[in-house]
Amino acid sequence: MTVDMHPDLANVILTTERIQDRIEELGSEISRDYGEESILLIAVLRGAALFVADLSRHISSPVELDFMAVSSYGSSTKSSGVVRILKDLDEGIEGRNVLVVEDILDTGLTLKYLLKNLASRSPKSLEVCTLLSKEGKQRVPIQCRYVGFSIPDEFVVGYGLDYAERYRNLPYIGILKPAVYLD
Ligand code: IMP
Repeated sequence: MTVDMHPDLANVILTTERIQDRIEELGSEISRDYGEESILLIAVLRGAALFVADLSRHISSPVELDFMAVSSYGSSTKSSGVVRILKDLDEGIEGRNVLVVEDILDTGLTLKYLLKNLASRSPKSLEVCTLLSKEGKQRVPIQCRYVGFSIPDEFVVGYGLDYAERYRNLPYIGILKPAVYLD
């Protein structure tokens, strides 16, 4: 498939087709693992919004959805390690099978904080599904049960991922030209 690439991108690393195929596989894997047990998908806003919408449609187990928003990068491309809950869950998670859905695991600082926070609310189970994981970047160990793709340590945008709130709507994932954020 030829990709009509956004001019701010240096290249596309994951095409729409590859992303969608992998999400279908992840959905099947999750459905197999949980069977008839219901799952509470907790998507981390805003990046994981597109991913959870597609992923949830490939899960055959009973699914409920909730959202959390935490502060992340702002307009910079480096992790600050400062995590703040901007929007908490609408419901309690005690005794429920929680599957946190993330867009990208970079240093792991955001998830570490989030998992500690969620674990203190006594869920029945707590697992993570991340679409992307940056190779060799994790500063804290995170157990991710489901990983879509391991990618090189480059700043990527598209399919939910932004730079200064832009590019989230691209259906593929690509590397931003450095000139775009150095300007
Ligand atoms: P961590 O705390 O360093 O693991 O960062 C996680 C968050 O940083 C993600 O949920 C994203 O919002 C953001 N992030 C990390 N790497 C990228 C990237 O390459 N592009 C866009 N956002 C990113």
